[in-house]
Amino acid sequence: TIVGVPRETYPNERRVAITPQNVALLLKKGFKKVLVERGAGAEAQFTDQAYEKAGATLTDLKNVWSESSIILKVRAPSFEGEMSEMDLLKSGSTIISFVYPTQNKNVVEKLADRGTTSFAMDMIPRISRAQVFDALSSMANIAGYKAVLEASNHFGRFMTGQIPPCKVLVIGAGVAGLSAIATARRLGAVTRGFDTRPAAREQVQSLGAEFIEVEIEEDGSGAGGYAKEMSKEFIEAEMKLFLEQCREVDIVITTALIPGRPAPKLITEEMLEAMKPGSVVVDLAAEAGGNCVATQPGRLVEHKGVKVIGYTDLPSRLPTQSSTLYSNNITKFLLSMNPEEGKFGVDLKDEVVRGSIVTFNGDIVPTAPRPAPP
Ligand code: NAD
Repeated sequence: TIVGVPRETYPNERRVAITPQNVALLLKKGFKKVLVERGAGAEAQFTDQAYEKAGATLTDLKNVWSESSIILKVRAPSFEGEMSEMDLLKSGSTIISFVYPTQNKNVVEKLADRGTTSFAMDMIPRISRAQVFDALSSMANIAGYKAVLEASNHFGRFMTGQIPPCKVLVIGAGVAGLSAIATARRLGAVTRGFDTRPAAREQVQSLGAEFIEVEIEEDGSGAGGYAKEMSKEFIEAEMKLFLEQCREVDIVITTALIPGRPAPKLITEEMLEAMKPGSVVVDLAAEAGGNCVATQPGRLVEHKGVKVIGYTDLPSRLPTQSSTLYSNNITKFLLSMNPEEGKFGVDLKDEVVRGSIVTFNGDIVPTAPRPAPP
């Protein structure tokens, strides 16, 4: 089996799907060849020489796509422009990348048209065996850290105990939110966290932050440990809380997401206007529509003296580390479908395979039900 790793083409994407170290591992585990497009790792500081030394075959874009039966990528193949990656995708081949199939129906249709077998790294079920494949968590961890650094860069003051101390509110305490809380705490900011899942309280507090709450009792835990959509009453109550908080805090980091749904709009114009001039909002939900009304995906905008950051490439801004983590996730996932050395095979009875498969030999596979909460 020949594995191919093209250079990412999405604007500002600096990650690469596979590191030289994992190229060596795939070869050791019986894959015949790993084709890497020249320059694929350059922006993540992995040189062509390092890939060659690891045993990869360096080649050009066309060869990678036409000779590989398994393609590993970060972003789903592009389908716009004259030479789209979807057109390059060899009919009948296998591809693994982020896909977000519920939000990107057109991508799924193209993957089916090309007769591919495809897997979405973002759909891997969160069962303990699959933790090593969990690229969403590894990227969220980096995004939360980087969100605080970006906020601090654009905030004209110290984060630590200068008078008055900088106050940070983190909305959504999943992987990204907890990472943001930990980072803000390490920089010395007074930090608060909020989440709809009661389980988040202890995690927020254990990081030395304050957990803020609404009076309404409603459990936001859904299937598989993910969040579910909240009632109108709950959203109204939390927004009231956020308005009060916005008058006080200097930095708001929002990470509220519900899988497969647009991000809830939680930060209104009124809240932005209640913030002190020079305050910063970082909206980690920007790509899913944003938690803040003023967010523009990929951009920093200013709303009446408050900076609203909607960057969608935060993991990519730490490209070496995010590539290393992603590469470990995708390599281990690929190897899990390779029980006998070099014999790649798809077993739809495997819960992880079934959860993440998008198309199978050109047929669209319906989304698997989420596992029950642990
Ligand atoms: P996520 O990125 O899907 O969402 C971010 C957070 O936003 C979640 O904590 C969610 O509860 C919260 N949220 C949703 N709507 C909100 C609202 N209206 N207001 C405020 N907050 C809101 O989250 P995630 O990083 O995927 O983490 C979700 C859960 O999954 C956590 O409990 C995490 O520990 C768990 N998890 C489990 C595994 C595993 O078992 N393998 C892996 C990763 C995460």
